[in-house]
Amino acid sequence: MMDELTQCRLCPRQCGADRLNGKTGFCGAGRTVHIARAALHFWEEPCISGSAGSGAVFFSNCTLKCVFCQNYKISADNLGYPVTEEELAEIFIDLQSRGANNINLVTPTHFAPQIKVALDMARGRGLSLPVVYNTSGYERAEAIRSLKGYVDIYMPDFKYYSNDVAGICSGAGDYHENVTAALDEMYNQTGRPVFDENGIMQKGVLIRHLMLPGHLSDTAHIINYVHSRFGDNVYFSLMSQYTPVRHIAELEPLNHKLDMRAYNAAVDLCARLGMENVFIQDGGAASESFIPEFTGEKK
Ligand code: SF4
Repeated sequence: MMDELTQCRLCPRQCGADRLNGKTGFCGAGRTVHIARAALHFWEEPCISGSAGSGAVFFSNCTLKCVFCQNYKISADNLGYPVTEEELAEIFIDLQSRGANNINLVTPTHFAPQIKVALDMARGRGLSLPVVYNTSGYERAEAIRSLKGYVDIYMPDFKYYSNDVAGICSGAGDYHENVTAALDEMYNQTGRPVFDENGIMQKGVLIRHLMLPGHLSDTAHIINYVHSRFGDNVYFSLMSQYTPVRHIAELEPLNHKLDMRAYNAAVDLCARLGMENVFIQDGGAASESFIPEFTGEKK
């Protein structure tokens, strides 16, 4: 599996970096996995967190690096500490022993080969929880295909519909074709959602969209696409907690909070289309204090 790192093409950037021999590509990740935090996490959708929490492992580095990233300390500043595959397997087992509902791999794409090795080790030691692949959606479909048998629940963002917006916000002018092909592959693998007796998802796809200020029409395109492509065979989470971070104070319109009238219009669109499996949020846009603090230290 590790030979995938010799000419890394794990994500659509396709840098070709020889990560086994000290080189790095756009994401900044090398041979060794770095994580910023591993802990029970209670702030995902109810079918993921439940009351026991989701066993979240936040990986350092990112293949997308959005200008508005709310976790920029780990995505762009690469905050985190190194772990071997052996240690990562132990982290998964520890989260299971603490009662987690699942193993939630947050921004895992650039470490997929190492994660597969760690999951094999952990399964051999009794890991039985569903595995959640919590991704930006900027994925190669063939990379998703290689995860078959490792992942039970895909939780991708669908960040942008327009490649123009994706180019401006993430330097990813090929986001649309990649996210849509990846979503098809994710759904092909999992099929319709399955829940346990407590309403915790065991299998399926949950697509998330964080609404951006000034981009309601992009959101509307995404809602229409998800509805027409998948109907109620996937879950959709419409998120309102966009938080303008300090370093984009001059960047219109991303330097504003989300106008809740735009959010309500998007909720109305979901209702008009008759979408039933939709998570919506109450309350106003979040402040920066809602962003978890990542120290990059081992807990
Ligand atoms: S995972 Fe990183 S190194 Fe590999 S192709 Fe993507 S950005 Fe480049």
